[in-house]
Formats: sequence, C-alpha cells, structure tokens
Amino acid sequence: MKTIQDILNQKDFSKEDLINLLKINTQENLDLLKESANNLMLESVGSNVYLRGLIEFSNYCVNDCYYCGIRKSNAEVHRYLLSKKEILDLAIWAAEKGYGSIVLQSGERADENFVSFVEECIVEIKENTKSENLPNGLGITLSIGELSLNQYERLFKAGAHRYLLRIETTNSDLFKQIHPETQSFERRLESLNCIKTTGYQLGTGVMIGLPNQTYEDLANDLLFFKEIDIDMLGMGPYIVHLSTPMKIYKDYYFENQKEIYALALKMVATARLLLKDVNIASTTALQAMYPWGREEGLLFGANVVMPNITPNEFRKEYLLYNNKPCLEDNKGDCFTCTISRIESVGRKTVLNKWGDSQHFTNKLRQNA
Ligand code: SAM
Repeated sequence: MKTIQDILNQKDFSKEDLINLLKINTQENLDLLKESANNLMLESVGSNVYLRGLIEFSNYCVNDCYYCGIRKSNAEVHRYLLSKKEILDLAIWAAEKGYGSIVLQSGERADENFVSFVEECIVEIKENTKSENLPNGLGITLSIGELSLNQYERLFKAGAHRYLLRIETTNSDLFKQIHPETQSFERRLESLNCIKTTGYQLGTGVMIGLPNQTYEDLANDLLFFKEIDIDMLGMGPYIVHLSTPMKIYKDYYFENQKEIYALALKMVATARLLLKDVNIASTTALQAMYPWGREEGLLFGANVVMPNITPNEFRKEYLLYNNKPCLEDNKGDCFTCTISRIESVGRKTVLNKWGDSQHFTNKLRQNA
C-alpha cells in the first residue's frame, strides 16, 4: 500500500489517491500535505497573495437553498439593494486603497431590472477607477448566480471578466437534498458552461462537510474542477445557519466542527496539488470556524483573500451562516487587518494588480 509520502511524490493523482489525502488523520501526514501544497504553490503561482474587495451589494434572492441564511423564505432577513452610487463609491474607495480587484456578490435574481442595474454599475466602475496604477480600472469578479447566456455576455461586455458560481457539490443526489426542486444540478452545470464560453475566467467551488457528503464525493468534486478546467476555486466549510431548514443537522455540525474545518484545509491543499496554477481563495467561512482560519488556508496553498468591504449596516443582513466574522469592523480596518494577517504567515500582499489566474494566462499563451 502507498504511503502518503508516496502519493505526494506523484505528479498526478487517482481518485483513490485523493481520497487517501483527504482522509489524513495524523499530524505528521498533515504536515507533509501542507508542505507539498505550499511548495507546489510557490512553484506554480508564487507566494504573493491577491486581494479582492468583497461588496455584498444585495441580499434579495429568488432561490431557497436549504443551507443559506439569505434564502428567500427566511423572513428574519431585512432585504437591501445598495444604490448605484453606494456601489460606485465603494469601488472607488477600494481602487484608491490599493485593491486591484473587487467581487460584486449578491443573492440571486435574473430579472431584467437587476441585470441592467449590474450592467450599469460595471460600466461606471470601469470608467471611474482608471488610474496610472490601474489603466484598465478595477478587475471585476461577479458572483450573482445563474443567468442566461445572453445575460452573462452582456455583463462580460460591460467589463466584468471573472465569474464565481459554486457547483456546491457534484453529487447530484446530494445537490437535490440541499436544494428545492426548482433548482437543478443540470441547470448549474449549464450555467458554468455558459460562463466559460462567454470568456470569463471561471471560478467554482463546493461546500465541505455537508451532511451525508462522503470522501468520495469530495474527490469527485476535485476531479470535476480539473475536468471542466476551472481558473479559480472558492470553497469552504459548510456552516449551519439556525434559521434554515438544515438546522435539523445542527447536532451533526456542532459535533463535527473540528473535523469539518480540518477537511476544508485538506481540500485546499489537495486542490492545489491537483490543479496547480489556479487561483485559490482562502474563504471567510474558514475564519468563521476558527479566528485564524483564513491564514491557515494560505498555509495550505491558497493565494487569494477577499476582505469584506460592504458597509457595516448591511453586513449583518448578509449572514449566509452563523458566526460570520467581521460584522463590526469598518472597511478601512479590514484592509489593514487583512494585510497584517497575511504578513503574519510570511506572505506578501500585492496591491494595485488584478491578480488574474495564472492558469487562465497560461492557457491564453498556449492557444496564441
Ligand atoms: N447568489 C450567488 C450564488 O448562489 O452563486 C452568490 C451568493 S451565495 C450566498 C454564495 C455562496 O455562499 C454559495 O455558493 C454557498 O456555497 C455559500 N453558502 C451559503 N450558505 C452557506 C452555509 N450555510 N455554509 C457555507 N457556505 C454557504
């Protein structure tokens, strides 16, 4: 039987290898995994960390995902949509501060009013954030859910160039267990395909530690990322929200928190080993589980951090899960705090750069 070191010495991995990496349960093997992922990160994307200022600009949502705190049926949530001026001011602030990129994230809506609103915001952000440092304005990533091909194209043409849409899980039965019938796995796959053909840098991800999720499911998720040739990965632990239908799993969640957190870090490291030069975010959900979670994510091979720059009064209305961090900080503090946290693990933050996925750039070069 192969040892963990034997697997880590390989250049490529079978499903069984991935499962064995995810099942690591000794400190010695965990350290080996972390070191390999870190070395591969240094070789393929370097040690720099790129920032994306996260603007949670609306919590209106037409979907009813059973796990999510801003699902449409959660009547406890006060719904908001930031104005165009508020979004633009945040973007200009971010550009002046040194963020090279922002993420515009919201609950899901595909109506014409909403899509043209986002389109106008993108155009204005691009026009108003050009400078010597950022000759093409801020880099814009969208994370606003499933749209039609035509809508994805419009937003791309307006100036957004990266898109994040999590598949959530590639096990279609598990997908059905955590979503209502109106949301289909096939439609999610189709959307990922549309995002890619439109020309965006494609980002996806899954939740880790979902009830009934197996190691094999997670290994299949990793192989799926490779197969659809993603450019960016944003995945994090599943965290219970007590005002959602999935609160029935709260005992499972609270009893297994430590294992879920460790599994999320192993997923980050294993993804780095398998996918090599993609951008991998160290997500807020890691920090929600453990105060230094985002820093640990960086130590396991992540190279992107997304500090929240949403104004304070709205952050508490965008609670996807319990214990979401940084609800009280203001956006200026988050910037300084993030940079010092990144430095605390020996990494350097890059300012005034888009920080595009090296994988995407390499593909463009190969096809030129
Ligand atoms: N509406 C967009 C979409 O669905 O892609 C973006 C917003 S959505 C709230 C962003 C992500 O939050 C989801 O893809 C999901 O993975 C994550 N999320 C929601 N509830 C969560 C929970 N309870 N635990 C961990 N992640 C959660």
